[in-house]
Amino acid sequence: MRTYGSRCTGPIGGANGCAATQCRTTVAKAAPNKIEAVTLEKQVDVAVLGAGAAGMMCALEAAKRGRRVLLLEHGERVGRKILISGGGRCNFTNVRTRAENFLSENPHFAKSALARFTSRDFVALVEKHGIKYHEKTLGQLFCDDSARQIVAMLERECAEAGVETRCGVTVGGVRPAPATDARSIAPDSLQPRFVVETSLGSIGCMSLVVATGGLSIPALGATAFGYELARRFGHAIVEPRPGLVPLVFSVADRERWRDLAGVAFEVVARVDATGEAAAKKRAKAPVFREALLVTHRGVSGPAVLQVSSYWRPGGEVSFDMVPGVEVFQPLLARASGRDWNSAFAAMRTVLPTRMAERWVRLRANQSSGDWTNAGIARLESELHAWTLRPDGSEGFAKAEVTVGGVDTRELDARTMESQRVAGLYFIGEVVDVTGWLGGYNFQWAWASAAAAGAVA
Ligand SMILES: Cc1cc2nc3c(=O)[nH]c(=O)nc-3n(C[C@H](O)[C@H](O)[C@H](O)COP(=O)(O)OP(=O)(O)OC[C@H]3O[C@@H](n4cnc5c(N)ncnc54)[C@H](O)[C@@H]3O)c2cc1C
Repeated sequence: MRTYGSRCTGPIGGANGCAATQCRTTVAKAAPNKIEAVTLEKQVDVAVLGAGAAGMMCALEAAKRGRRVLLLEHGERVGRKILISGGGRCNFTNVRTRAENFLSENPHFAKSALARFTSRDFVALVEKHGIKYHEKTLGQLFCDDSARQIVAMLERECAEAGVETRCGVTVGGVRPAPATDARSIAPDSLQPRFVVETSLGSIGCMSLVVATGGLSIPALGATAFGYELARRFGHAIVEPRPGLVPLVFSVADRERWRDLAGVAFEVVARVDATGEAAAKKRAKAPVFREALLVTHRGVSGPAVLQVSSYWRPGGEVSFDMVPGVEVFQPLLARASGRDWNSAFAAMRTVLPTRMAERWVRLRANQSSGDWTNAGIARLESELHAWTLRPDGSEGFAKAEVTVGGVDTRELDARTMESQRVAGLYFIGEVVDVTGWLGGYNFQWAWASAAAAGAVA
């Protein structure tokens, strides 16, 4: 087992147990009629489940306040998603972060935490550690060198604050500590509120922070643990679905477009919806002016990833392929020479040649061409609304984030604490707050973690 952090590196409850912990405390199980003793291998103030971005940040913030913090990770090392993020350079924040950059059933929820721990706060930490960074585009900050620097920074901060970090630990279950009303326990009491069953033994804690992330990229340790735990404690879950994920062509579109794999161009992307209710949603859904990439299986690239978070199975997405350009204006300006060759010539000035060629060929096959002004205007409007009805998305295996999660309507927006169970906190991606592409998801992880770390 790999151990990080500086405090109490021996086996929990073993001879090396540090003086700051109350090892082998005996408490009773919370059975209504039968009070059964359970031996705690260790007792801490705060147990944090999941050593990703949010878990590490929360652990170090709580430890800086003098809390005894145990950070438990079931993977073999901490911060694995950080390491692969931003193409290995970690887009660690966005300087333009606002609540509008997030999806949630409760759109105002994120405001408080985001306002109290801003991108400037995280940048200050990055600068304190001498990590060089740059703004790539649209306020997105990346490491000049490597995402490893962000993980190393968080590990160092955790170690200095005295966080005890344990990797390779299986967390079996969590239950309220003895048959005591958790709300009646004073925060500085030695009586734990929760017992966490782990492969290291039973651990008692006053505050339990769930930072186990969402379902995206199971190969990197994603589990549904956080949602299951939330449900067991009575919390509602907004159904998780893949976000920031490539979309898959329908069979017909696959035939039409897949051999253009590799072609990329700037679009304005939006979720297109039909029906009245959907139309209202569409009016609220943002549009994204970024690159689209055609792949062998569908469409990807930043514009597509952005709209994928808003897309629902069965719905359509649409792309303005030539934003802000009246492509066929030259044809309208003259009475003759209105034909497919002229249309192609006009299109290739603003679109990759292969895309322009394919577009013209498909349209020419469908009709001999209506070269009246009205016909040309129709062609123009088609270019500004390339509409696809995807068969699906590439799913959690490829999704950068999970949309949905623990319903925020039962969490305190200032502290991330459960309004149902005192001392229970949910932070980061496990919560129903999902950022756009561009560093927003890490900023949410840092901000929600700081909010909980200040009180847990
Ligand atoms: C390929 C990729 C690139 C990305 N790039 C960016 C980017 O550049 N910028 C950005 O803002 N966002 C990016 N994201 C999104 C970002 O990584 C996540 O939003 C962020 O990591 C969420 O942090 P978290 O701590 O809540 O969850 P995670 O980082 O997922 O951490 C959760 C941790 O909990 C652990 N865990 C899970 N279940 C258990 C359990 N039962 N017991 C113990 N531990 C458990 C996991 O192993 C993991 O270490 C990217 C995501 C991916 C997949």
